[in-house]
Amino acid sequence: MPLLGCIADDFTGATDLASTLVRQGMRAVQVIGVPDGPLPEADAVIIALKSRTIPAREAVAQSLAACDALLAGGATQILFKYCSTFDSTEAGNIGPVAEALLKRLDAPFAIACPAFPTNGRTIYQGHLFVGGNLLNESGMENHPLTPMRDANLVRVLGRQSEGSVGLIPFTVVERGAAAIRDEVTRLRDANRRFAIADAITDAHLMALGEACARHALITGGSGIAMGLPENFRRSGQLPARMDAGALPEVGGFCAVVAGSCSRATLGQIGIARDHVPVLELDALATPDAAALARQARAWMAGKLDAARPIVIAASSTPERVAALQDKLGRDAAGALVEEAMAEIADDLVKAGVRRLVVAGGETSGAVVQRLGVASLRIGAEIDPGVPWTHATPPTAPEGLLLALKSGNFGARDFFLKAFS
Ligand code: ADP
Repeated sequence: MPLLGCIADDFTGATDLASTLVRQGMRAVQVIGVPDGPLPEADAVIIALKSRTIPAREAVAQSLAACDALLAGGATQILFKYCSTFDSTEAGNIGPVAEALLKRLDAPFAIACPAFPTNGRTIYQGHLFVGGNLLNESGMENHPLTPMRDANLVRVLGRQSEGSVGLIPFTVVERGAAAIRDEVTRLRDANRRFAIADAITDAHLMALGEACARHALITGGSGIAMGLPENFRRSGQLPARMDAGALPEVGGFCAVVAGSCSRATLGQIGIARDHVPVLELDALATPDAAALARQARAWMAGKLDAARPIVIAASSTPERVAALQDKLGRDAAGALVEEAMAEIADDLVKAGVRRLVVAGGETSGAVVQRLGVASLRIGAEIDPGVPWTHATPPTAPEGLLLALKSGNFGARDFFLKAFS
């Protein structure tokens, strides 16, 4: 039975959270969408939703269904994970989802702490900073879906919630878990439903985690999870584990499919070109998903190897991406390439690839969906934020290792390093 049940409002955020928990000694499995069967065997189960920007009512319904599945599976504490830049609109979905979860859990109060100091997200006096800038001057004010125009999270969450929102200030958090617990009691007595928690360092996150050991619901970014495994160890529920990220051995061919056009991914393809076979598809010359997949199928024959990867990329320069978008429209261009990459990934697995790296967040979503992956057991990180994971999709029931790399992640030699 899982100790910790997590609900994440997007896919890569779920992986990030799972990786944090594995680093702290919890075996973690990420489930894609609300499971209809029993929960997988793990210390923490993370249900990945895609609920960040859907209508609030739907986000609430999905989150409650996820919560019910986690509780039915035996989870003793629920963590609602959102983005470390508090991505949301005036309508939600952080406030409405958190309030609905409190009600379901019959709990009066939860902290809200998106801080992630390692990535430069810190909170002081309730104000969220991204590096040296306030949230509303960080570029996030121009986000196409969730523009963040106010850095004061007490106000932001207040606008999204029916209950009132307080603050656990730096001066309290700095004094440690006991001081935080006293402050929470005071806030609850003052009828606060939520409190934004200041946090500038990992030590603050650890203290907050410790203080929330008995909270039915915790809300925040992946950083807030850092202090939670220790609570379960302290209470004797979680053994001290050296290798929470151990994955089953998998033999088979290696491959990379890339649909990300980020600068990092383009650099990684450049390095790979000097060492392993690389096919660069030209979606502008062949704007046809089936035809691109046929080209890849013909090229890969005889090149697959168990020791080194082959790389198949649709990634292109900003100019060529813009040219295809002008021709087809932005969404259709993206969908065409995603369709091609999903088809190619499926072909690769059918041809015996059992260690597969996918570059690109949306591309990963398309590949995972095509392969019919229902859950991912989270392993050790290759680079920060990108763990190997183990899945058992219908085309590889004996097991497949997947690394899903969001565009900007990974060192320059990532496509080689992942297999070494
Ligand atoms: P990232 O994580 O870098 O944002 P994504 O996979 O999320 O990567 O997004 C990249 C998008 O660009 C995908 O929709 C993909 O299909 C699309 N794409 C990839 N190559 C091309 C190309 N050559 N022309 C147009 N769009 C492309």
